[in-house]
Amino acid sequence: MKMSEKQISRRRFVKILALTGSAVIIGGNILLERPQDKGARSEEEGIYKVRGVYEEDLWVPTTCLLCPAGCSTQLRLIKNRLVKFEGNPVSPINNGSICPRPHAYSQFIYSPDRLKRPLIREERKSNWKEIEWIDAVGALSEEMKTLRDRGDPHKLVWLGGDHCSQHALIELFLKAYGSPNFIKDRVDSDFEGDLTKINYLLLLGADIIDGYGPMMRYFRLYGQLRRGRPLRAKMVKVGSRKSVTGVKADEWIDVRPGTLGAFALGLTHVILSENLFDEGFVSANTAGFKEFRELVLGRYKVEWSSEVTGVPMEEIRRIAREFASTKPSIAVLGDETTLWNNGYASKLAVQALNLLVGRVRSPIKNELFREISLGLDEIAKKGLNIERIDLAGSRFRNESVYNYVAEAVVANSPYRAEIFVIHNTNPLFESLEPERFKRALEKVPFIVSTGPLLNEVEEEFADLIIPEPSFLEKWSDYSTYIQDKQMFYASLVRPTISRNRCVGDLLIELSKLLGENIASNFPWTGFEEFIKHRWSGIWSSGAGYVGPEPLSALNSFAEFWDNLKSYGFWYYESQISHKLNRYSFNAHEIEWRDPLLIESEDKYPFVLNVHPLISQDGKYLSNCPWTYEHLTPLFPGEVYGVWAEVNPKDAKRFDIDDGDLLSIENPKGVEIRCKAKIYEGVAEGVIGIPFGLGHRAGGRWAKNLGSNPMELTIYRWKDEYVIDPNTGNPSLHSTRVKVSKVS
Ligand code: SF4
Repeated sequence: MKMSEKQISRRRFVKILALTGSAVIIGGNILLERPQDKGARSEEEGIYKVRGVYEEDLWVPTTCLLCPAGCSTQLRLIKNRLVKFEGNPVSPINNGSICPRPHAYSQFIYSPDRLKRPLIREERKSNWKEIEWIDAVGALSEEMKTLRDRGDPHKLVWLGGDHCSQHALIELFLKAYGSPNFIKDRVDSDFEGDLTKINYLLLLGADIIDGYGPMMRYFRLYGQLRRGRPLRAKMVKVGSRKSVTGVKADEWIDVRPGTLGAFALGLTHVILSENLFDEGFVSANTAGFKEFRELVLGRYKVEWSSEVTGVPMEEIRRIAREFASTKPSIAVLGDETTLWNNGYASKLAVQALNLLVGRVRSPIKNELFREISLGLDEIAKKGLNIERIDLAGSRFRNESVYNYVAEAVVANSPYRAEIFVIHNTNPLFESLEPERFKRALEKVPFIVSTGPLLNEVEEEFADLIIPEPSFLEKWSDYSTYIQDKQMFYASLVRPTISRNRCVGDLLIELSKLLGENIASNFPWTGFEEFIKHRWSGIWSSGAGYVGPEPLSALNSFAEFWDNLKSYGFWYYESQISHKLNRYSFNAHEIEWRDPLLIESEDKYPFVLNVHPLISQDGKYLSNCPWTYEHLTPLFPGEVYGVWAEVNPKDAKRFDIDDGDLLSIENPKGVEIRCKAKIYEGVAEGVIGIPFGLGHRAGGRWAKNLGSNPMELTIYRWKDEYVIDPNTGNPSLHSTRVKVSKVS
């Protein structure tokens, strides 16, 4: 960074540092009691409406936002202090169940490491000074205004997405400002659909009960498929790590890393050559079948699949026949399929497999939220026409290409990034080869973080921190479509423990400071008003129920809103037709690439497999010590550290025992250390390491406890990006490592 540019920011900072501002707003609580508590109540009230047992002992409905499942929960507050989370038994999302994450989350709420007020500093790594929220907004608005007045709004980069209305507001704000650079940190998983009636579940790298995707929905699905109905569904896990999902499945099929797409193509070959596909469905609902059939029968034969995957031909044939004949069946893909250099072709192969047996999936959005249209000025229009910094939509087909941002910023290409807002994400922990993001952040003149504690980004690089409250301390909401119930579901999350201003409030306040052209798009007084406005669309539709109350029985929006606050959620049963389009096999895009593995097997004998943990989200849960106590069933005793799973045959070959301290090194010479866990559920030649622990900052419990396996991953090797060139997805599992015992 050039000093002169930095100094411009600092002059404004010095001014801000001298300012003072307004106080934090504290709000009230919802006084509800959980349904199962005793007390006189009508049948209807017995389901939904409840009251306090003691004056200061309350159960409060809310929604857990710690993973995409969005479980309806209840908080127990004693004297306004959170003491317990429970699932809401009447919720159609989770029917009273919750996972371990929210239990530990109370340790985040009351953590002494949390930032209470915004922080600002004159130079990076210098001391922080607490300032008022309104002054922090002023500091940010000055930087943003300068950039926009210069005609460079596209040089504002927003890294990290959010939930429902706050996500929508970020998107709207960036459009009105003129930046195309809303970089979301997650790629939508293709992991939805009505799976409850499935009789054959083929999991291609999808670890549905290991902490992946909307967890509770998959946990419940698993229970339902296996024990909740007379016919027990067959479950087959395919992948290079057995995982908890593989342990619980009927079969685990071990394939060579990076070849799940080839396995899927082998299955399609058997299904096509033996005419096992659903001819009626294919002819009525699909396009491009002829080309696909020719492609697979000519190029992707079962012999080829067996050679690439290492799975015997008879095994592939058997699975293909079972999959095609056990109706209904579905193939579900996970990160181990898509996060490779051949991820896009693999995804298409899995989609084709599903089309052959008549399974489709369409993304469904809740269109009942009120649409908000923007009036864009010339600066915004010009900014939005500029190519995105992550090349999404130009070079890559993904909507966002998070990992590529570091490369773009370091190279100042396609342009220089001037302001970064980092929200709800930690590129120095979550990205591939996180050192790249360090080099990138060093080049950005002004970095704002919304982190609620001093994590890696905040400690080293942030100039200004405007901490985001937890979901128990702000207005928020959540929305989804529940496929098996054919139901739109949305929940309102209101401040319970206290009320602090959130990113939604920040954006509305910023819009007012950035001039009339932007402000006129955001007439609301705060984020609560914005949420209300969006929800007024649901009210106007007259559709569905708030708790037990049909909207048609309510007299006004105010009554609807009051009910919503009491019951927490709205739902609407609506059958969505999947037959709007013909589904294409996209044969011309199925171009198999051998999996890219960095360096040779003789020098680096193991393929690194970084996998999720139920108890960790990669964000703030690592600073909650209860998450360390949550043992996976496979690794009792392995708390307060990170382990490396080694197959027993590899352990014998390399003379490794359970508990040995291992040095694990990648071809770039990056090394981490962790204890060995001999585990027959990891394939030979693969090292499995869990994701979520190993922070270098982020609170007293998170800091320096274990190692972050993402440090071993490689994004660029010998001037080539280790990505899928179609989507821009990183090839997460391409890194080979060598392992030695630390004596
Ligand atoms: S599955 Fe767990 S983390 Fe996810 S929303 Fe439900 S309770 Fe929260």
